Amino acid sequence: MRMSKPILLSTPHMGDRELEFIKAAFDTNWIAPVGPHVDAFEQEFCQATGAGYAAAVSSGTAALHLALRLIGVEPGDEVFCSTLTFVATANPITYLGGIPTFIDSDRNSWNMNPELLRLALENRDRIGKLPKAVVVVHLYGQSADIDPILKVCNQYDIPLIEDAAEGLGATYKGRSPGTFGRIGIYSFNGNKIITTSGGGMLVSDNPELVARARFLATQARDPAPHYQHSEVGYNYRLSNVLAGIGRAQLSVLPDRVAARRRNFEIYQAALGKLPGIKFMPEAAFGRATRWLTCLTIDPQAFGADREQVRTSLAEQQIETRPVWKPLHLQPVFADCETIGGTVAEDLFARGLCLPSGSNLTTEDLARVIDAITAVHHQLCKTRTPAFIS
Ligand SMILES: *Cc1c(COP(=O)(O)O)cnc(C)c1O
Repeated sequence: MRMSKPILLSTPHMGDRELEFIKAAFDTNWIAPVGPHVDAFEQEFCQATGAGYAAAVSSGTAALHLALRLIGVEPGDEVFCSTLTFVATANPITYLGGIPTFIDSDRNSWNMNPELLRLALENRDRIGKLPKAVVVVHLYGQSADIDPILKVCNQYDIPLIEDAAEGLGATYKGRSPGTFGRIGIYSFNGNKIITTSGGGMLVSDNPELVARARFLATQARDPAPHYQHSEVGYNYRLSNVLAGIGRAQLSVLPDRVAARRRNFEIYQAALGKLPGIKFMPEAAFGRATRWLTCLTIDPQAFGADREQVRTSLAEQQIETRPVWKPLHLQPVFADCETIGGTVAEDLFARGLCLPSGSNLTTEDLARVIDAITAVHHQLCKTRTPAFIS
C-alpha cells in the first residue's frame, strides 16, 4: 500500500515571530517562571479577550485547580460540571477532594443545558444542598449559553468557573467566553487553537483573586526574606520562554480562527449533502472558532457508523477522534451523580472530530473529504444487492 503523509487532528502552527520572542528571553537571560514576557503576555491576553486581570500558568489544568482552590472547594464539596468534555475539566475537582456532579448538554451548542442546570439547582435549593461551584465548558470552539447559566448561578450565589480551554477566540454576544464567570481558564496545550507547547491562563475581573492565584502558583511564599509558608501552594507559573511563544501566537489568533472556520466551511460544503451527516451547529448567540470540525453520523442513512468511518480513515493515515466520551461514562467517575446524560451519550456514540488544524492545506482537506465520501459509497454499494434481493 502506498504510504501517504499522516493528517493529524490539530497540530501546532507557529507564526513568524515566536523565535524572535524566544531569542529576546535568551538574550536577557530571563529563563525563569517570571519575566517580562510573562507580564506582557498577561496584559496582551486581557486586551485580546477583554478579561480584567490574568495570571499565566503552566497548564489549563493548573489554572482550573487554582480556580477551584480560590473558590474554596474543600473535601466533600459538590461541584456541578459539564459532562461532555475532556477529563481535565473535572480532575482538579477531585484534587481538592471535591465531588463532581455531571450535567448534560443541549443540542443547540453541545454545551451545558441551562434549563437542566436551573432545574437541578432549584431541586438542590429545596433540599438545602446547593453545590459549591459550577464549572461550565465551552466545547470545540463554541461558547455555552452563558446568560441563563450565569443568571441561575447568581440567583443562588454560586460562583461560575468557565473552562474556556477550547473556547479562545470564540464570542458570546460579542464578548469572549471565559470572561463572564467569577474565574475563567484557558489552555495553550499543543493541540489548542494557539499554543505555548504547554501553558494556561487564569482570568478574573477581581484583581485580588488573580493576585492570590499568582501567590498560590509560586509556592505560597509569605513576604519574608527567608522562605516562609503559611499555606500549601503549587509550582504552577508559566516559563518566560513559553510566554514569549504565547505573545507571538496571540498576535495571530484572528488568523487561526479564520483558518479553522474555513476548514469547517470546506468540509460542510463537500460533506453536508451526504445522507446522515450533520455538523455541530453554531448557536445563534455567538461565533464559534470551529477549533475542531465535528459532525454526527447517522449509520442508517449514511451506510456506515462512526467507528467504520474512523477506522477506514485511520488506515489512510488520517487521524479523527470520537467526540469526547462523557465524563459520567468514565470508569474513574462511575460513582458520581449525573443530571440527564442522553444527549451527551448520543453525541459520543455518533460524533466524529475531523482534522482541523489551521495549517492544513486544501489538498489535506480534499483527502479527508474523499476518504469519507468513499466510505459512504463503498458501504452503500455492498449493501445494495442484499437490500434489493
Ligand atoms: C485541553 C483542555 C483542558 C486542559 O488544558 P491543559 O493545558 O492541557 O492542562 C481542560 N479542559 C478542556 C475542555 C480542554 O480541552
